[in-house]
Amino acid sequence: MALQVELVSPERVVLETEADMVRARTIGGGDIAFLSGHAPFLGALDTATITIRPAGGGNDIVAAVHGGFISVNEDVVRVLSDLAELAADIDTERARRAEERAQDAVRRGDDTEAEAALRRAHARLTAVGGI
Ligand code: ATP
Repeated sequence: MALQVELVSPERVVLETEADMVRARTIGGGDIAFLSGHAPFLGALDTATITIRPAGGGNDIVAAVHGGFISVNEDVVRVLSDLAELAADIDTERARRAEERAQDAVRRGDDTEAEAALRRAHARLTAVGGI
């Protein structure tokens, strides 16, 4: 049996697909891979990538998610995130510029917002394979 996967942001359904595997990074729980038959699960997402292995083959789909929640129940995986970007929609150069700005700000001792911006940029660059 395949997993039904829904990746949703407040504005839109980013992705709806069937998958053999979904891997996500949860706060406190690290990387977790979900296969069909997984026990019910609810977790808070880190700012990181989520990997979706399409049912029946094909390349993995990777997205950057910036917080949110993942729930798994009866082979339905729901990912709800304020910000979710498919790798194909990520502007790599923009993410590199954001990374540089954030690194400068962190070096200057700027606040936690700079560190959060750096985590967003890293998630985006990891999603596009640029890290
Ligand atoms: P930047 O400084 O480049 O705006 P940011 O991390 O501050 O980066 P966010 O506030 O997280 O940007 O996002 C603002 C909007 O821009 C969101 O809709 C987000 O999906 C989009 N976005 C941000 N960076 C990128 C990127 N590199 N590629 C595609 N969309 C992006």
